[in-house]
Amino acid sequence: MNENTALAEIEQIPITDELALKNADRSKAENESPEMKEIATAKNIRKLVLYPDPILKKECKKVEKFDSSLKSIIDEMLSIMRESGGIGLAAPQIGISDRFFVCNISGKPEDDMIFINPKLELSGKLVSGVEKCLSIPGVSVECKRYPKAKVTYKDLNGNEMVQEFTGKMAIVIQHEYEHTIGRTITDRMNLTDQVINKRQLDRLKKIAQLEKEKQEGLRKKAEQERRIK
Ligand SMILES: [Zn+2]
Repeated sequence: MNENTALAEIEQIPITDELALKNADRSKAENESPEMKEIATAKNIRKLVLYPDPILKKECKKVEKFDSSLKSIIDEMLSIMRESGGIGLAAPQIGISDRFFVCNISGKPEDDMIFINPKLELSGKLVSGVEKCLSIPGVSVECKRYPKAKVTYKDLNGNEMVQEFTGKMAIVIQHEYEHTIGRTITDRMNLTDQVINKRQLDRLKKIAQLEKEKQEGLRKKAEQERRIK
């Protein structure tokens, strides 16, 4: 099969997943299931890394430089979090394997929180709740979390901070922290969650595969055109 046939085949795949690949088709995708709508939204947000991207499974490295480039990455993360209606976002979710994340559970700009090189001390009796993840649209997982989190972290200037959190904030911190050690809510699925989410996870894998093939096809096509010239 040559590249052109491969490309043509990808273009013609009539499955609904293909809709999510095209921003122009977003409105069509929104008429699909809520899971598809979530995929369409996530894919419209530039830079958001989606499951099963291997970066989500990687343990992040410690931040050593507290410079202006870190600040601009964090500003960008805060806007991506806001744009996507999320309450937390970790660096690997925008393709950066460094140990930091941002949170904001109220949506008010003054409540933006930035945690760099965080260490958690968790306590209390485990509580159960359903969690979603911006990188795994359409998937919900019942997670057990601690109600209290004492966080030792660095701020944007590299100063060490210690702060205690409870309730929703403590839970978001645990979710985001896990991203920095290469874990996501899919690692917390029990048997029921595995069954419920299987279709959607397969769908996300298929979309990623199609996109990879599409990019590869485009790359080869460009190379071919370059050779002809
Ligand atoms: Zn997440």
